[in-house]
Amino acid sequence: MNAPAPVSLEQSRKYRTRVVLLGTAGGPPWLDGATRTGISTVICVGDAFYLIDCGEGWGPQFRRSGIGPSGFEQGLDNMRAMFLTHHHSDHTIDYPNLLLLAWHNGSKGLKRPIKILGPGNRGVLPPIFDEDSRDPLPEVWNPESPTPGMEEFTEKLLQAYATDINDRMRDNAKQDLREIFEVSDIRLPEGIGTDPNGDPTPEMEPFEIYRDELVTVTAILVDHRPVFPAYAFRFETPDGSIVISGDTGVCTNLVRIAQGADLLLHECIDMEWVGALLGPDAPKPDPNLMQHMLAAHTSIEQVGPQAEAAGVKTLALHHLVPSIAPKEHWERAQEGFSGRLVVGEDLMAFGLGDPS
Ligand SMILES: [Zn+2]
Ligand SMILES: [Zn+2]
Repeated sequence: MNAPAPVSLEQSRKYRTRVVLLGTAGGPPWLDGATRTGISTVICVGDAFYLIDCGEGWGPQFRRSGIGPSGFEQGLDNMRAMFLTHHHSDHTIDYPNLLLLAWHNGSKGLKRPIKILGPGNRGVLPPIFDEDSRDPLPEVWNPESPTPGMEEFTEKLLQAYATDINDRMRDNAKQDLREIFEVSDIRLPEGIGTDPNGDPTPEMEPFEIYRDELVTVTAILVDHRPVFPAYAFRFETPDGSIVISGDTGVCTNLVRIAQGADLLLHECIDMEWVGALLGPDAPKPDPNLMQHMLAAHTSIEQVGPQAEAAGVKTLALHHLVPSIAPKEHWERAQEGFSGRLVVGEDLMAFGLGDPS
């Protein structure tokens, strides 16, 4: 197959397998002049579709994309699953939108429950960065369960929405949400040494987390320390392979899962901006955040060689930090990469395989 190139939403409908970038911004801040929507991506195979991450505004973007049948109570009919890469709020903030609005926008025609798969409990608190110079030390938030995974996260969100849920079920005869969604923590295979505060990305093979008659999805741990578990996902479809990096620094596991992929959607960070904002010469230096940005993300200079090592055909950048950096900055990612580079934009689409 040729290296996938961006096509219009209209053209993408001619492909059985297509990818639509719903939102391409990384990070929670509202930056002046930002126009990109929060991170989320949809992969379609025929009528079925799969959502990856629920960044701010994925819902309205999904409607704009025209995916799925239109009309009242039909939009989510063909949704098979949602995959969450990690528990940072810029990836989960509009998750309640999916859980609570599905009733009104899609659950009527569902032929099977929508699977929701996301990282499990971290198991241990992350260390306090620069502990010696911090005073006071941060208190533990919700000490009874300070690092919940996907199942607990969902259960507690639904508890918080009990007033609405009871109202809709009793007054509007809405279906039990447990019949609409099937939520699971992604369970790491036995024998993977997990040490969140030591080595969060032990060498491992991608492992299967989902399969239906159209796609097989595998996952691998990537380096977004101190977040753990943080995953990259690979979708094998009848028309080619798509890898989503999730948030990660340079990482051999990412190279492993992306090996030979047709399309790699990779996060990226502009270190020039980070340095000017947070570095030692900045008006308000923030060594804590600077340290996080360096360790947990992939810079423009690093992403090309990473994609080259994986031998992918097309590298498309998304989860851009800052979302307001000019396109010329991101285009520098071509250095060290011999394949096709695409700077992602909201509602950009790709078709895989041959158009009909
Ligand atoms: Zn993020
Ligand atoms: Zn993150």
